[in-house]
Amino acid sequence: DGCSHCFYEDHFDKDIVYKRRLKRDLDKAIDNGEIYLEYQPQYDCQRKLLSGFEALVRWCHPDLGFISPVEFIPLAEESSQIIKLGNWILSEAISEAAKWDVAVTIAVNLSPVQFKQEGLIDVIRETLEVKNLPASRLELEITEGVLIQDSEQALKILKSLRAMGVKLAMDDFGTGYSSLAYLQKFPFDKLKIDRSFIHAMQANDQSLSIIRGMIGLARGLNMPVLAEGVETEIQHAILRSEGCNEVQGYLLGKPKRIEEYGHLLVDVQTYADAT
Ligand code: C2E
Ligand code: MG
Ligand code: MG
Ligand code: MG
Repeated sequence: DGCSHCFYEDHFDKDIVYKRRLKRDLDKAIDNGEIYLEYQPQYDCQRKLLSGFEALVRWCHPDLGFISPVEFIPLAEESSQIIKLGNWILSEAISEAAKWDVAVTIAVNLSPVQFKQEGLIDVIRETLEVKNLPASRLELEITEGVLIQDSEQALKILKSLRAMGVKLAMDDFGTGYSSLAYLQKFPFDKLKIDRSFIHAMQANDQSLSIIRGMIGLARGLNMPVLAEGVETEIQHAILRSEGCNEVQGYLLGKPKRIEEYGHLLVDVQTYADAT
């Protein structure tokens, strides 16, 4: 009827206008210092040691407040904005990690669009050189979206990155269409189980079986596996006993400004000290 039609149109217009504004504002956001990174710790849960941090981008808009990357990354991906943003994120995360006294990895999310950028390899090599971070300390988190369109080209880039010594993690594992096919085809160093599986693991036996299967699969392929979104002690205990290698989640530490994690960066820390 007319009413729902009106509602739909209003909603639609507001959405378009809002997105257009975000896109426009994003151009200036980096230069204005509105974009920054938070870091979430990753732990080796078998040896109980800090193993790395994942860099997560944040936007504090002067009028609109906090805007989630889930909202603005896809908008940036619609244009070349993601290239500028992505390069800024790489540079910022790498230069931060180069300052740490502990030689843990810095994990950086790479957009599929960024991945198609001409010269991505050179940007990464140069940034590592300039900031003086060994390539082995950088881990790039990639979703299977990277691999879908042009998989021959993607394979070439992944192999070059690997030859450079950069680590590759498959992010959000289990949520895509053909995760298994890609595992067979591409050289990943780590598999990150999507947090939706971790969230569901206590709700039903099937979820636990799936997690067990993923851990077994990773082990069979000689790949370490990290569980994302670990929020409870029970999830943590089960994952450890199932042989999961690494954990990341609110239980162990939320994404925060790096200053908040300064105590983790001065010396090798065991887990108990960290939580
Ligand atoms: P992701 O790479 O899978 O990152 C994990 C997301 O889960 C992050 O959300 C993190 O804050 C959240 N998380 C971590 N632990 C827990 C937990 O225990 N419970 C719950 N409920 N959530 C948890 P965030 O920061 O909002 O980022 C969302 C997504 O946005 C990321 O998913 C990634 O796809 C994208 N993103 C974030 N930063 C960047 C970036 O620098 N570059 C690119 N290209 N994408 C990014
Ligand atoms: Mg990630
Ligand atoms: Mg993920
Ligand atoms: Mg993650």
